[in-house]
Amino acid sequence: MHGRLPDNTPMQLQASRFESLGPAFYTRLGPTALPEPSWVDTSAASAQALGLPDGWDSDPAVLHALTGSALAPGSSPLASVYSGHQFGHWAGQLGDGRALLLGDRAAPTGLFEVQLKGAGLTPYSRMGDGRAVLRSSIREFLCSEAMHALGIPTTRALCVTGSPAPVRREEVETAAVVTRWAPSFIRFGHFEHFSHHGLHAELRQLADFVIDHFYPECRSPEVLEQHGGNPYAAFLAAVTQRTARLLAQWQAVGFCHGVMNTDNMSILGLTIDYGPFQFLDAYDPAHICNHSDTGGRYAFGRQPNVAYWNLFCLGQALLPLIPDQQLALDALEPYKADFPTAYLQAMNAKLGLEAMQPGDETLLENLLRLLAADRVDHTIFWRRLSQHAPGLLSHPETPAGPVRDLFIQRDGFDTWARAWAERHQKEAAPDSAATQARMLATNPSVVLRNHLGEIAIREARAGRYGSVGSLRSALERPYHAHDDPAQPTRLGAMALSDFPPDWAAHIEISCSS
Ligand code: AMP
Ligand code: MG
Repeated sequence: MHGRLPDNTPMQLQASRFESLGPAFYTRLGPTALPEPSWVDTSAASAQALGLPDGWDSDPAVLHALTGSALAPGSSPLASVYSGHQFGHWAGQLGDGRALLLGDRAAPTGLFEVQLKGAGLTPYSRMGDGRAVLRSSIREFLCSEAMHALGIPTTRALCVTGSPAPVRREEVETAAVVTRWAPSFIRFGHFEHFSHHGLHAELRQLADFVIDHFYPECRSPEVLEQHGGNPYAAFLAAVTQRTARLLAQWQAVGFCHGVMNTDNMSILGLTIDYGPFQFLDAYDPAHICNHSDTGGRYAFGRQPNVAYWNLFCLGQALLPLIPDQQLALDALEPYKADFPTAYLQAMNAKLGLEAMQPGDETLLENLLRLLAADRVDHTIFWRRLSQHAPGLLSHPETPAGPVRDLFIQRDGFDTWARAWAERHQKEAAPDSAATQARMLATNPSVVLRNHLGEIAIREARAGRYGSVGSLRSALERPYHAHDDPAQPTRLGAMALSDFPPDWAAHIEISCSS
C-alpha cells in the first residue's frame, strides 16, 4: 500500500485524460517502492515547464512519490496496453512493462502526462523485472533534455531518482526511475493493438481521443475535404507529416534512435523511448548503434525508410476506420516528398543557406560522400565549418585550416568548398558574418555522445552525481561556444566538444536497460 501524500505536496496531479478512455486501455496499479531513494539529478527547465514551485525537489515526499514509495496527490496510476512490430515482425502484446502513468499535470502551457519509468512490475512486464538501471535512466534523462534544447520534438524528463536496490542485467546494477512527461505517450503500437484484435470500437475511440486532444484540425472542413471527408485519413496524414519532420531533424543532427519498433513511435511525432540511441561520431550512414541490431535494420541511414514502414503499419491499423484504402495510401504518400524537403531544408540551414536553389541537393550529396568516405566526425565538422565560414567563403581558393584538416581527401574538400562559396554568392544578400552567426546557432558544439554519457554514468555509479548535472547544463545550451579553445567546457578532464577518445569505439549499447 502507498501512502497518499498531502495535497500541499508540490507535485499535484490529476487523473489522466488517458484514463477516461476506460479499462480496455490499461490496468490500474501503483508503483512498487524502491528502498533508500535519492536524487540523481533534476531538470529545472522541466520543473519550470510543469509549473512546479521553487524548492519542489527539497521535499522528501516528492522524492518518495517519484521513486514509487508514496503517491503524489491526485495521481491515479495505470499501465497502458499496446502491441507492435519489433525488428520488422509482429511482436503481439507489449504494453507499459515498467512505465506507469501517474496522472496529468496541469502546467502553465497545458496538461501533460507524467510517467515513472522503472516503477515496478505491471501485467505487461512479460519476462522483464519492471525496473530500469541507473545507466539507462541517466541516458534517457540527459537525452530527453538535450533533444529539447536542440529544438527536436521529444518526451521530456523531470528527474532521475536512484536506489541501491540491485537489478540484474549482464551484471548486477542498481535501480533508478526516470520521471518523464509529454502531452501523451500514445504510440503507433496502441492503434495496432486494438486493430489487430478486431476491437474496432476501441480503435475508433482511441483515434477520436487523439484527434480531439492533439489533432483537432483533422475535423475542419478544409482538411476533411482533402481526405475524402474521413478524419482518420486526415489524422494519418498529419502523423505522417510530423514523423517526416522529426526524421529530418534526427538525420540532420546525426541522431540514431537504435530501436525504431512501432511501439517506440510516438503518435505525436516525438522522440520517445531512449534506449541504445547514439549521436554519430564519424559520419557513416551504415552506422548501427544498437549492439542487439545484428542485421542493421535501424542503421542511421535507414531511419527515414523505417519510419515510412512504421507509418504503413499505422495506416494498416487504421484501415477499419478508413474504408477506402486509397485514402490511407494517399495520406502516407506525402512522406516521400515531405521527408526529403524537410531534410534538405535542415541541411541547407546547416550549410548557412537560406532558400533552396537548384543544385543544392547535389552540393549536399557531394559533401556527404566526402564525409562518409573519410569518416569525418559529424558534430565537429559542422561546427568547424560554421566557425571558419567567413574565411572559407571569402578565400575559397585556399581553404586551409581546421575544417580542411578533418579530411584525408583534401583536394576533394577544396573542390567542394569552392562550390559552397560559389553557392553563397547566389544568396539574396551574401554576408559571411551573418552566415557564420546563423550556422553557429544551427550546428551544436556539443551533443550527448556515448562517451560523454559514459563518463557521467561511471561517476554516478560511484555515487558522484555532479557530472550528470554538469553535462545536463551544457546540453541545455547546445549552441553555446562550449568549444571556445581558450575555455572549452569540460567534464572532468574531457572537453565536451572534443573528438571521442579511443575507448568510445568500444562502448557497447544494447537493448538491455
Ligand atoms: P523497448 O524496446 O525497450 O521499448 O521495450 C519493449 C517492451 O518491453 C515494452 O513493452 C517495455 O515496457 C518492455 N520492457 C523493456 N524492459 C523491461 C523491463 N525491464 N521490465 C519489464 N518490461 C520491460
Ligand atoms: Mg519501448
